[in-house]
Amino acid sequence: MSVTMDTLVSLSKRRGFIFQSSEIYGGTGSCWDYGPLGVELKNNIKRLWWRDFVQSRADMVGIDASILMHPTVWKASGHLDHFTDPMVDCRECKLRFRADQVDERPWTHYCPATKGNKFTIPAGEPCSHCGGRRTLCPDCGKGELTAPRQFNLMFKTFMGPVEEDASITYLRPETAQAMFVNFDNVLQSMRLKLPFGIAQAGRAFRNEITPGNFIFRTREFEQMEIEYFVNPHETVDGRPADEYWHDRWIEDCLAWFRRYGLRKENLQLREHRKDELSHYSKRTVDIDYRFPIGWSELMGIANRTDFDLKQHAQFSGKSLTYFDEERKEHVVPYVIEPSAGVDRALLAFLADGYVEEEVRGEKRVVLRLHVELAPLKVAVLPLLKKREEIVRTAQAIRAELARQWRVVYDDTAAIGRLYRRQDEVGTPYCVTVDVQTVGDSGKGESGDGKVTIRDRDSMEQIRVPIPDLAAVVGELLSGGEWTTAAARYPTAKTS
Ligand SMILES: [Zn+2]
Ligand SMILES: [Zn+2]
Repeated sequence: MSVTMDTLVSLSKRRGFIFQSSEIYGGTGSCWDYGPLGVELKNNIKRLWWRDFVQSRADMVGIDASILMHPTVWKASGHLDHFTDPMVDCRECKLRFRADQVDERPWTHYCPATKGNKFTIPAGEPCSHCGGRRTLCPDCGKGELTAPRQFNLMFKTFMGPVEEDASITYLRPETAQAMFVNFDNVLQSMRLKLPFGIAQAGRAFRNEITPGNFIFRTREFEQMEIEYFVNPHETVDGRPADEYWHDRWIEDCLAWFRRYGLRKENLQLREHRKDELSHYSKRTVDIDYRFPIGWSELMGIANRTDFDLKQHAQFSGKSLTYFDEERKEHVVPYVIEPSAGVDRALLAFLADGYVEEEVRGEKRVVLRLHVELAPLKVAVLPLLKKREEIVRTAQAIRAELARQWRVVYDDTAAIGRLYRRQDEVGTPYCVTVDVQTVGDSGKGESGDGKVTIRDRDSMEQIRVPIPDLAAVVGELLSGGEWTTAAARYPTAKTS
């Protein structure tokens, strides 16, 4: 069973992952806000990507560049001239459509054969009364459409106090260009040797005419991009270095998504055809994911050759080369660009993790997120919220664990309900404090000082002494197997 987009949108809102932006004002076109659990999940994705692709590698460094860049950057990169869609405008209602998509929508028709009655006709079909086809605006049915014009997808704004052409600037449509314009700064300051890469995670903006499908395509989004520079005159394993590293990055990126839980059958590579390659690209391969909307791009890995560095060298008049000590020559490196969207990755992890199953005749929704992605790591739950001793112990455990991990305390429902709530947001472990833990001083009974840890996926439970708790949780959250930890402690009955 695969999850629908509606189910994910609804879960996201109900449980604080993702809200519509400015919802109380009716929302902003395809903009979304990450809520308390969404921001944790998103931060975890970015942190793991940075750890695995920057921190742990000797050949990678990072930057964090400004969103507003010099306008000439976009001239040099080709965005000013080529980052466009053909658009038509209605002369009456002023609505704008992508020229190639006008006939993909139902159209409004005032039919001359029926005294001008108004009909809505399915996309691409003629009127069943007069046989006419759409020529006017599909929305209002009255206005003529202009000839197609190229419409730039960059958000334009003004830098400084004067709104004049000289101060026009753009919100960056991708993070990549900052790595190219900082190439020499990074190279000189860090004394790097080819091959090396520069990474950045940050916001980008595209004034998409037809955004949609929840957070799949939005006008404001976050990217995780790497520009990996290689010496085109070198060979690795008998192959040109750029081709070798391109394949390596495709493998590494695919393995990364697999490592954090995306199922193999939901991932596939897609080679761009020659006629769909960008003007700068020698070869591009997408990692496609089976989203609820069908197979779509999760990320792309392009061989951008030396296009960008050459362009920026030409437009800036600065040399952007690397001195090859061995061959005693200046070279313009080739660049391999693994480019991923944070929001798309998050959507894929949500979709892949979502499972509905039946447990003892009841439906259980569980988000099987990788422990390192899970927004909440542990929920501490008191079995009885009226017993002061239980509550105090549970609060103390929460405070202790929260020094290292995102941990919540919840006493707002019965225990079964509390478990279901945590399952639904992917919390890998619940810790329960009960009467057995604290004993009953009224009856002169002392507690055993043990708490129950419940595993989200197997729903098994073990009894662990409180002094061992942080160590066991630490083991489980850093990749330790549940079965290994569970083997050391007595099991508790399932509730
Ligand atoms: Zn119109
Ligand atoms: Zn008609």
